[in-house]
Amino acid sequence: MKFPKELREKKDLGDLAKNKKCSINDCREIAVRSLSENSWKKYVEKAGLKYNTNSRHKIFLCKIHYNQSNKIRKSQEKMFQKKGFLDNSNAVKKGKWDSLRD
Ligand SMILES: [Zn+2]
Repeated sequence: MKFPKELREKKDLGDLAKNKKCSINDCREIAVRSLSENSWKKYVEKAGLKYNTNSRHKIFLCKIHYNQSNKIRKSQEKMFQKKGFLDNSNAVKKGKWDSLRD
């Protein structure tokens, strides 16, 4: 004989493992990505999104919000690359013209 409470707890755990909700406030979508809060916090915030923190320091994102944050991440990485070029001013001019021709 099983107690109803036990059954309920089991069910809740199963739902948690399967259907993680997006961490962004007011978003009800199912998350497609589980990301480390440490490395993604800045991108999510730069994208203008507010997320709910959790005890595991993970940010869960649905497809849409992941794409938004990933766009920020990519543009930031580009900026860092450009910064690297700035140390060598000749290289940056050449690089600029090359990309304009494309
Ligand atoms: Zn979302």
